[in-house]
Amino acid sequence: SSEKVIREGPAEICLVNDKVFYNPVQEFNRDLSVLVLNVFLEDYKREKLEFLRKKGKINDSESEPKIEVNLLEALSATGLRSIRYAKEVPSITKIVANDISESAVKTMNINMKHNQVDHLVETSHDDACMLMYKHKVPAKRFAVIDVDPYGCPSIFLDACVQSIQDGGLLLVTATDMAILAGNAPETCYSKYGAISLRTKSCHEMALRILLQCIEQHANRYSRYIEPLLSISADFYIRVFVKVYSGAKQCKQTTSKLSMVYQCVGCDVKTLQPLGGFKPNPTDKNPNEIKAFLPSGPPVGTHCAHCNHPHKLGGPIWSAPIHSQSFVYGLLEHLAKGTLKLGTADRLDGMLSMVVEELVDVPLYYTHDKLFSIMNLKTMPMMLMRSAILNAGYDVSFSHACRVSIKTTAPSQFIWDILKTW
Ligand code: SAM
Repeated sequence: SSEKVIREGPAEICLVNDKVFYNPVQEFNRDLSVLVLNVFLEDYKREKLEFLRKKGKINDSESEPKIEVNLLEALSATGLRSIRYAKEVPSITKIVANDISESAVKTMNINMKHNQVDHLVETSHDDACMLMYKHKVPAKRFAVIDVDPYGCPSIFLDACVQSIQDGGLLLVTATDMAILAGNAPETCYSKYGAISLRTKSCHEMALRILLQCIEQHANRYSRYIEPLLSISADFYIRVFVKVYSGAKQCKQTTSKLSMVYQCVGCDVKTLQPLGGFKPNPTDKNPNEIKAFLPSGPPVGTHCAHCNHPHKLGGPIWSAPIHSQSFVYGLLEHLAKGTLKLGTADRLDGMLSMVVEELVDVPLYYTHDKLFSIMNLKTMPMMLMRSAILNAGYDVSFSHACRVSIKTTAPSQFIWDILKTW
């Protein structure tokens, strides 16, 4: 027949017709997701068991009950991702693979049988949002929802944040990088509720715009997110966030968001928290949480280093975008070698960079840009880094850029290094 057969990991996909979407470059995205789900679901099941024990629903003498884990792949196309989850993530007990396209669902049905996962995967032909709204009530919510659309995912987020369990995991891809990376700031605002900037750290900024967008959707329903991992790769970004319920924690959202003042001359960015709560270090009782008001925007909105004006972007998520302990867990699991992932080496390289990232420092400088604005010959990267470290500041790369400099050093200090070079 005219069928094309594609193999990825243990899955075999028959592309019955050309209308159905398949992108081989996304193997890395799917491998990463398989790894994340394996590690996340171990924690998820442990937390569920502890909860049941606390509630007295099980006691230590009984054998542990099987924890149900249901996953929704809201935009499934060929069903490849769902097949891989069914075969490579043993904790999952049920998968719903959905697509709005009839030919996609036909292809999926063939593929589920062909891969012998039709007992685990139920296919669904529906609009993703309509399907998710049917799962809003707590008893019907999903433990995991994966949203991997063409372009922008924001139209699905309202439904996602309502149909996921407390402590469940949301996986979201965005491929509209031009919009997120500052080429169309107005469109970015209308789609994501934040203004993007054309800056050297645009890939991390894209991640932070998507995270603030998910958080805002979640907050409407007294829910909030905890990012476990946020990745920029190839032509897309992908975030993995836990979603929790808690009206009290939602009040802290403004302290996790910031506006960004970007100097149009030297690309230095100054972050301005929207407000919120933070511990007051001078307080006799440091644990007492005090409200604080953000200070004003950079004086005269002209850059202190090069006197160019500022542009305003954001709001962005300015709290950590990864959980370091979770990423260590991913690296450990990967090192065991039990998962046979085609892109394991790339995953190891990427996650090893992620785990070293300074979590409390949003955005970054880029080495080449710093020297080019000053018309200077580039200093060796290692020399620059040791200068920062020797002065007692921290420095790291970002996984999103090969020549990035993330640092706790104030911008004045960076400028002093450049001036003395
Ligand atoms: N997740 C897939 C993978 O890893 O191979 C790729 C998904 S593809 C990028 C996007 C799919 O979303 C298309 O098959 C399209 O038919 C489907 N789609 C678009 N709008 C939708 C909607 N509102 N509800 C459900 N599916 C939708």
